[in-house]
Amino acid sequence: MSQLKSMTLPEIGQVMKEMGQPAFRGKQVFTWLHSGVRSYEEMTNLPKALRDCLAEKYPLHIPQVVRKQESKKDGTIKYLWELSDGNCVETVLMRYHYGNTVCISTEVGCRMGCAFCASTLGGLVRKLEPFEMLDQVLFTQIDSGLPISHIVLMGIGEPLDNFDNVMRFLELVNSPDGMNISMRHISLSTCGLVPGIDKLAQKKLQLTLSISLHAPTDEIRNTIMPVNKAYSSEELIAACRRYYEKTGRRISFEYAMINGVNDTPEAAKILLKRLKGLPAHMNLIPLNHVEESPLKPSTRQAVQQFQKLLEDGGIPATVRRTLGSDIDASCGQLRRKYTKENKQ
Ligand code: SAH
Repeated sequence: MSQLKSMTLPEIGQVMKEMGQPAFRGKQVFTWLHSGVRSYEEMTNLPKALRDCLAEKYPLHIPQVVRKQESKKDGTIKYLWELSDGNCVETVLMRYHYGNTVCISTEVGCRMGCAFCASTLGGLVRKLEPFEMLDQVLFTQIDSGLPISHIVLMGIGEPLDNFDNVMRFLELVNSPDGMNISMRHISLSTCGLVPGIDKLAQKKLQLTLSISLHAPTDEIRNTIMPVNKAYSSEELIAACRRYYEKTGRRISFEYAMINGVNDTPEAAKILLKRLKGLPAHMNLIPLNHVEESPLKPSTRQAVQQFQKLLEDGGIPATVRRTLGSDIDASCGQLRRKYTKENKQ
């Protein structure tokens, strides 16, 4: 591993040992890295020779802010970061009553191909390294001056398509010697990669698993989410049941309400039948319109009716507030715009 910041505390300890350093240096370096230093020079309690040696062997890559947009309506801040190889990813900071929440990206682009999503339009460029996910949390906190208590893995990319790096990021951000963010304050969202869900279940983490369901049947889901052709909604719901059995954690479903596609009373009834007995929560999200897509958001009336049907049938459902609608805050829109502008 070439980046020290992607290493766990024992791994950094090992590096220090190999450099002939005492054991306590590992913790010092880890703590400095996780406090957001921009150079080894800032690690003032390390000997100068060690700082120089680390700088040469493990150069620090710090993301640069290339765009920052702040919503005048609700204080949501969106960052577009440039990574060391010139690629860009987005992070959104949302201010909820329970705490400041960052929505981070897990990949540069995405290969899942969902019809309503801006992140996937240019395909997958590469997966993010663990430290590149951590840096989004860290530097959003530093730049905004707002303490971050919650994380959602709902930005650009499919977290379960970058499984090992995401697991390592979770371990890092959860570390008591680092940002110490509780697993219970983290949500991981997937479009439905069934083997990944089963692998995650084995880890028995306390995080919230969010499933981007978006449709009641295979017939509808196939038209908007290509992943459904690999893992049908039946297999997906079965995996959710296994996940619940293994972890005891209630599943959260995401459901983007698309006018005339998935928002009928019939769709709500089918969902109730198919999710019967599974402790779940449904997040209804009025579709954020993406320029390149013909899909439109449902009417407010259709959303309310849908919510009522689900609730009456025993599935708690909330309509998510759309934060940052004045700043392209929906997944992938800012990166898309920036990439397009810079190609022209
Ligand atoms: N790849 C993961 C996480 C990233 S997307 C996943 O699919 O879950 C985060 C959430 O935003 C998903 O539920 C996704 O379906 C949703 N989403 C993407 N584009 C959207 C749009 N235009 N309007 C509403 N929700 C959208």
